[in-house]
Amino acid sequence: MPKLTKESILEALKLINYPGFSRDIVSFGLVKSVRIEDGIVQVAISVSTPKPEIPAKIKADVEHVLRQVEGVEGIQVGVSVQAAPKAPPSHPSPAETKEKAEGVKKIIAVSSGKGGVGKSTFSVNLAVALYQELIERNGSAKVGIMDCDVYGPSIPLMMGVSNRPEFRDDKIIPEENFGIKVMSLGLLAEDDAPIIWRGPMVNNVIAQFAQSINWGELDILVTDLPPGTGDAQLSLTQNMPVDGTVVVTTPQMAAASVARRGAMLFEKVNVPILGVAENMSYLMNEATGEKQYIFGQGGGEETALALNCPFLGGIPLDQDIREGGDRGIPIVLSNPESPSSKAFREVASKILEALQSA
Ligand code: ADP
Repeated sequence: MPKLTKESILEALKLINYPGFSRDIVSFGLVKSVRIEDGIVQVAISVSTPKPEIPAKIKADVEHVLRQVEGVEGIQVGVSVQAAPKAPPSHPSPAETKEKAEGVKKIIAVSSGKGGVGKSTFSVNLAVALYQELIERNGSAKVGIMDCDVYGPSIPLMMGVSNRPEFRDDKIIPEENFGIKVMSLGLLAEDDAPIIWRGPMVNNVIAQFAQSINWGELDILVTDLPPGTGDAQLSLTQNMPVDGTVVVTTPQMAAASVARRGAMLFEKVNVPILGVAENMSYLMNEATGEKQYIFGQGGGEETALALNCPFLGGIPLDQDIREGGDRGIPIVLSNPESPSSKAFREVASKILEALQSA
């Protein structure tokens, strides 16, 4: 059994948001002490609010979360309420976050529980497919893609963009290709040296990055997050008004369960899950039209079912998708009539529908 530590308890408490906010009680500095003795966990929390339901909700949430931590045998939660009512410290209100992305109508975050599911490839083709869908529906489209993958920013390569971006009035001006505005942390890095970020740095980098870009007017901004379930996801939702997340997974059940965990974090910060898309779903035998499910079947649908959200569709495993990424011309552009491109268009169309009701 893993040893209970203050750190593991704090990690668990980070899952709890201050009621009505997308920021957790630990980063708000509300957790004053954590003590552990013989499996009994004592947590002291201090809030300043005139509303009695807030301490009650936090206490119930803490008890609920800690009950699920392995090794916890007893829980004592004390919530003290300060007399002077103050707004929770330094968190932007939803209205303030909205202001930060002025001009951007909708923001979607593409997420995955783990790396290597083809999330960046998916994001790039999704951005282009959304662009095409919007053109078809409205006659015009303004789409951007923001690569927040601090660990391996590959979007510039896949979008054929390599220039260092310009700064104007202290803001970064995104590059543009194929009518899509592109900004990536990779375009800001000094050289090819690998960038190594630790959790708290990821937080700061994404926060600053998100606030420094002048997107102008956009119908939709697609943001590609690093894989995982932690800092990057929270940081983005705290710094941009994210309208919904799209979860990318592969058909294997193991990948699907990781994706599920990743997505739950978005639910905790009140970002709706627009749906689950499955990448590398099947290999198409072009001669016979037969689909070969080489990675298994059903992971995407299973994930959607578990998350109670729509299944957006499957994208085939296709050499042309990979080559499009390497060449910097997404397949949706280079061969819009291919089955893979049509699959991306279908996903994009479902996302537009989901966004309307989000
Ligand atoms: P992630 O962002 O999840 O790390 P990438 O998008 O970088 O993954 O994809 C990893 C590799 O898999 C890349 O070489 C990419 O071209 C390839 N790839 C992704 N999706 C597909 C697909 N549907 N068919 C073929 N190759 C794919």
